[in-house]
Amino acid sequence: MSFADATTSARTILTGLHDVMASRSHAQAKLNRVVEIIGEALSSEVCSIYLLREGVLELYATRGLKQEAVHVTKLAMGEGLVGVIAKTGRILNLDEATTHPDFAYKEETGEELYHSFAGVPIVHHERAVGVLAVQHADPRPYDDVEIEALQTVAMVLAELIANAELIDETPADSEAGRATMAMRLDGQKLVLGMGEGIAVFHQPRINIEHTVADDTEAERQRVYQAFRKMREQIDDMAKSAEFGVGGDHADVLETYKMFAYDEGWSRRINAAIDSGLTAEAAIERVQQRTRARMHEIDDPLLAERMHDLEDLSNRLIRIVAGQLGTAAQMGLRDDSILIARNLGPAELLEYDKRRLKGVVLEEGSLTAHVTIVARAMGVPVLGRVKDVRRLINEGDELLLDAEESCLYVRPSATMVEAFEARLARRQKQREELRSLRDAEPVTVDGRRMTVMINAGLRDDVEAVDMVGADGVGLFRTEFQFLVSATLPRRERQQRLYKDVIEAVGDKPIVFRTLDIGGDKAVPYLRNDGAPEENPAMGWRALRLALDREGLMKVQARALLEATAGKTLRVMFPMVSEPWEFDEARALFEAQRVWLEDNHHMLPTHIYYGCMLEVPALAEMLDVLLPHLDFLSIGTNDLTQFLFAADRADPRLADRYDWLSPAILRFLRRIVIQAKEHEVPVTVCGEMGGRTLEAMALIGIGIEQVSITPAAVGALKAMIRSLDAGALRQRMEEWLAQPPDDLRHALLDWAETRSVAIS
Ligand code: PEP
Ligand code: MG
Repeated sequence: MSFADATTSARTILTGLHDVMASRSHAQAKLNRVVEIIGEALSSEVCSIYLLREGVLELYATRGLKQEAVHVTKLAMGEGLVGVIAKTGRILNLDEATTHPDFAYKEETGEELYHSFAGVPIVHHERAVGVLAVQHADPRPYDDVEIEALQTVAMVLAELIANAELIDETPADSEAGRATMAMRLDGQKLVLGMGEGIAVFHQPRINIEHTVADDTEAERQRVYQAFRKMREQIDDMAKSAEFGVGGDHADVLETYKMFAYDEGWSRRINAAIDSGLTAEAAIERVQQRTRARMHEIDDPLLAERMHDLEDLSNRLIRIVAGQLGTAAQMGLRDDSILIARNLGPAELLEYDKRRLKGVVLEEGSLTAHVTIVARAMGVPVLGRVKDVRRLINEGDELLLDAEESCLYVRPSATMVEAFEARLARRQKQREELRSLRDAEPVTVDGRRMTVMINAGLRDDVEAVDMVGADGVGLFRTEFQFLVSATLPRRERQQRLYKDVIEAVGDKPIVFRTLDIGGDKAVPYLRNDGAPEENPAMGWRALRLALDREGLMKVQARALLEATAGKTLRVMFPMVSEPWEFDEARALFEAQRVWLEDNHHMLPTHIYYGCMLEVPALAEMLDVLLPHLDFLSIGTNDLTQFLFAADRADPRLADRYDWLSPAILRFLRRIVIQAKEHEVPVTVCGEMGGRTLEAMALIGIGIEQVSITPAAVGALKAMIRSLDAGALRQRMEEWLAQPPDDLRHALLDWAETRSVAIS
């Protein structure tokens, strides 16, 4: 049958239902009327509604079955055809119901007269709350159009049942009812920590309250406008994607665009509106249908695409419903755990960290900038939790245990008890580590290591004192740009730099000039050229800064003036060839001379450093090192380029190990050359913040690290239990002849010598 037929049959039913919904009669009377309307419209001898009451499906209204059976016939979840539909959330369409293995005969109904059977679940907030079934004496299956109409009606019924407060809140042990059960979901720990809170969707789901339209033409206009707006948004995203939102962003946007402009999709939504649904209900109805189709096709690639369509469909519903903002703009509860597919660093920074108890992502990876930002904010993050947005409801109680790589959803009493015991243990452990605040990071064989912290926001810097760090080894100046809606002017930059210098007191702070681009998108800085295929390797950091000299000059002035009378330590990101360092330094020096000529007060000392994040630069150290005051190895970028593995790609997150001989050999060569030139070298990537990795770094001669503040205590404990001399010797042997599993070998070595690895 054609669209037109489908639309007509649903429309006849919905017109009838519209009057029923609007009437003031009692819920039971409404349901009695509904079964009559549907039965008549589909020329079906039987039409029945079963509702879930106290975990059991009860016959609530019927046309065609014996009336004595109403409120008497009851089926458990999974019992009989009706029970199977509710349990699985799937449709059944049978020409001979009695031959189905799950058929359960209920004598009181008198259903032996009927052969064909079709039933659809009635779904509310993604869980089956009842079943709508039709039966016929002829042994013929119902056609697609009839099933379509039943599904549309089931959606309206869900609204009617909810309004009549007939929704059963008893948790059901069913596949379709799983969204109410306690469960444990596993993922990858991205930022350690534990948090207790309530699920908040970054992009909140809209609960559709009105399903039947009063004015179809008005609904059509609403959808039309929403499509226009959504297409505009997608086009804008594509235009401003020069700084990317992660490695896959170009692909994702392409797919979004394809769906946004898909004629078939908008036509199907329009047909659903013609059948009498509101704009929101029509979009959701089409989405339900697509979801059901995808269920039948077992293709992981299509399933991915389905995510995109879901995203877009939700966006369209939000636009229609006029709810555009993310949870950050809508007033956050005190104990929120944020749920998202993925987030950009700037999106996360919009949230008030005091209210955020954790973040759970469907994607995410260890060195993506959103992870680094979350770490800086002290918010635990669990990544790569499959299907999390489907399995969790907004407002669900959650226990996030990133230490154990898991999330407890709607936890049972035992889960809560176990979680709280672990939390108490962890707090005790943290207190013990905090007691190391004043302890010096000196190895067992008497070598003083330098442990600094990474920071990027004003408040981060206070951690230097709180954890007893030696200073700030990396201040990411781009964070100020990421949190600003407009380009921060020189005065604002200068004020921030002054504030953080004051906060660290006598301890050193190393400012890194802007590293924007890659996954650090800044909407107000637009690339005039074509969107980049590989933003991480594109026009970012120093490359951008040297081309847009104005930006760098302003920053140089802000830094020089903020450090007047003090020491300025500045380094440049993503230097790929020595001349880039020379040019950046010359630019700073020119600003210094200008300030001097104009009688401004200057820093007493300026130390110029360089980040080593691009492998090619390691081959030029003999040329570069004589120009440098210090070198800082950014292992996040360096290792992604060494292994040619996108740091933001979740599929590659576990594939290569920081403790691989390739990385350690590479780093050791750098350390040796830097020592020869007496240039101090620091590791400021995430690698240095993990105890076993940091131990390996000490093993290859690293003496300074700059890490996330939360890791300082554990690192000091490791250092204070380590014989660095013995490890260096062993490391020489391992790197000359690598064992099969260097991580394992290091762990064994640490365990037998009681080195504190956590
Ligand atoms: C790095 O790449 O290791 C680094 C420290 O810089 P960022 O993480 O900010 O790119
Ligand atoms: Mg980097």
